[in-house]
Amino acid sequence: MHAPSASPQRIARVEPLTLTRAVRGPFDYRLRPDQSDIGVGALLRVPFNHRTTLGVVLELATESQVAPERLAEPDAVLPPGVPADLVELAGWIAGEYCSTPARALTLVLPPGTTGRPLSPKRVLVAELTHAGARALRGEGPLNDRQRATLEALERDGPTVAAALGTPMLRRLEGRGLVTLDLSDQRRRPASVAIGRRLDGAPSLTGEQQSALDVVLEALTAKQGKLLLHGVTGSGKTEVYLRAVQETLAAGRGAIVLVPEIALTPQTVGRFQARFGDVVAVLHSGLGQGERHDEWLRLRSGEARVCVGPRSAVFAPLADIGLIVVDEEHDASYKHEGDPRYDARAVAVRRAEQHGAVLLAGSATPRPESAVALTRLRLPSRIDRRPLPPVELLDMRGAHHSLHPRTRMALADVRAAGGKAIVLLNRRGWSNFLCCRGCGHVWMCPNCDVALVLHRAADQLACHHCGHRRRAPSRCDECGSVAVARHGAGTESVEQGFREAFGDELPVFRLDADAAARKGRLARTLAAFEAAPAGVLVGTQMVAKGHDFDGVSLGVVLDADQTLRFPDFRAEERTFALITQLAGRVGRTEGSGLPARVLVQTLAPEAESLGFAARHDSDGFLAAELARRKVLRYPPHGSLIRIVCSGPEKPGASAPAVSAGAAEALAVATRLHGLIAPSGATVLGPAPLFRLRGRSRSQLVIKSADRPVTVLAVGTAVDEIAAEAVKRGVSVSVDVDPQ
Ligand code: ADP
Ligand code: ZN
Ligand code: ZN
Repeated sequence: MHAPSASPQRIARVEPLTLTRAVRGPFDYRLRPDQSDIGVGALLRVPFNHRTTLGVVLELATESQVAPERLAEPDAVLPPGVPADLVELAGWIAGEYCSTPARALTLVLPPGTTGRPLSPKRVLVAELTHAGARALRGEGPLNDRQRATLEALERDGPTVAAALGTPMLRRLEGRGLVTLDLSDQRRRPASVAIGRRLDGAPSLTGEQQSALDVVLEALTAKQGKLLLHGVTGSGKTEVYLRAVQETLAAGRGAIVLVPEIALTPQTVGRFQARFGDVVAVLHSGLGQGERHDEWLRLRSGEARVCVGPRSAVFAPLADIGLIVVDEEHDASYKHEGDPRYDARAVAVRRAEQHGAVLLAGSATPRPESAVALTRLRLPSRIDRRPLPPVELLDMRGAHHSLHPRTRMALADVRAAGGKAIVLLNRRGWSNFLCCRGCGHVWMCPNCDVALVLHRAADQLACHHCGHRRRAPSRCDECGSVAVARHGAGTESVEQGFREAFGDELPVFRLDADAAARKGRLARTLAAFEAAPAGVLVGTQMVAKGHDFDGVSLGVVLDADQTLRFPDFRAEERTFALITQLAGRVGRTEGSGLPARVLVQTLAPEAESLGFAARHDSDGFLAAELARRKVLRYPPHGSLIRIVCSGPEKPGASAPAVSAGAAEALAVATRLHGLIAPSGATVLGPAPLFRLRGRSRSQLVIKSADRPVTVLAVGTAVDEIAAEAVKRGVSVSVDVDPQ
């Protein structure tokens, strides 16, 4: 037997965090003996291509294909690095969504990694000394302010100096009456809490208890993918809260995903109220420092529940027992940048990794989830309160934007001093402007879409690229002053209501424009909640999971807006939108008016509207699944969308072949060879409307064998990527597009 020689060489396989598709690691680096603490997930600064770059350790090894003396050493280690399970998860995401390992890794890095390094925030804290306490007993001269300050310190204990006045404290320090020390202070996000708050936990209804029992069994078994399908107001959140409580009791952690923090302050508030400091909140509204601190609290185990939007699925918890996906139908769970991951699918994967239970919930679950998850039901509202009747109003041939029944219902609300919510999924004042003289329509210079009038700002705006210009007073083409406004938006509905209702019924507006300023959204929600009477007008934001008191009327104007969308999910969206709006109505006894929902439509015979009117989500799911089976749409097949876009050639108004088309064709040709044998179909290339000054070409692949197709798409795209970049063409791949 040989005595062990020098310890074996340690090699780190490092993925450099570069964003180009062309560079694909990992690359080997040699670790020095003093770098023994470097493990999987460590974040390193490494020499790379005559520069330095950040990289993440994917793997450790003892040998390399490269001779050891030719391997570089890392320059530095940047703690805290990424937990190993998240490194693995990133690898899975890169493959599943046709992205690159480097891009997927950027999703799981500690917040602030790529920007400036953050030092913990240090603050000056004042504390009373014994001499200070004696001075208070009359052993020294103190003026009134000094006395008040020392009294405050005696009463409240150590206090942030700035709160009491640092200069005066400095003088007291000089006399030995207080001490002033720097100490680390966690940057605490302000808790978002509005709305009704239950003191303690209510006792569960029988239905809630039955659902919870199944969840608890799954928690014990450390596996299960569950779908809590409960009507709006059935108390789903209470079931989540109990499940989290049990998870904590078992010594494990939980992630609770919510659609958007700003739109779900009540849900977040309920978790904070129930569990206190063990809850960390991660979302983009936080400052970088706050996010960093919350991340560290999760990483260290100080916090064991993470509540947040889709990115919270990457919370660095060591041992996860439960992942909740609230309002699982919400489109915000899909990420729109590369990698175009779906947090719901990532949640399933992460739950499997940890031996955790996945608990998704919705009143309008997606057909995909209805098939893939085990369903638990909450068929009735708390207190057996009925769901509001939904009435479809035929608007064909109507001359007024409000149906007579809508006008009457609103008048009733005004007379009774009640509350109503009016949904119109279009912001701005009017849809488009058109010259009565010559027919000119004001279009976006960068996109092939009409500009929308925003009258309060006196601007025309493009809702795709953000282009803005002054609203015209006369036609750009013929000079006519007769400019017609077509269609209505939330802004004009709001104005119309203000004029009609005067001071009697305050009008609140909720849409992306009204929410542009920070904090505005939460204030509007809180103001509507607190108001005894009022109308809330807005886009789909008004239909999110709000739990408002006393709303007796819900109105959908132009329900066909979502149906007209050329997308196989149009039916699903429309059904969910109406059902969710109905979910805000009649949750509590209000002004005494019976609860009801009115839906104005040009297509009263549309199937999805019928199902929504009957509150028949099972019927809807069955019909939708049957339709998708015929068309081979998810869950009966996968869709992958590839978009090639390139800059327009200046001057050429209508180039024969638009930029990106050649690349799309090349990918299509390659794909035909790769996946046609597996029965997949490649649709396109088809031109898309111009966006942000780039012309676009699209391919859609429908396939039954998703892994094979994803791999083939990755191969085909990688092959053309380098050439495409040279021509300024970018290629984006969207697996499971929304
Ligand atoms: P959902 O998420 O299913 O729409 P919520 O969780 O918002 O429903 O619950 C609706 C309302 O009922 C909330 O105000 C909630 O506090 C209350 N609630 C939930 N469970 C109970 C219970 N067991 N007893 C009394 N009130 C409850
Ligand atoms: Zn004109
Ligand atoms: Zn535009």
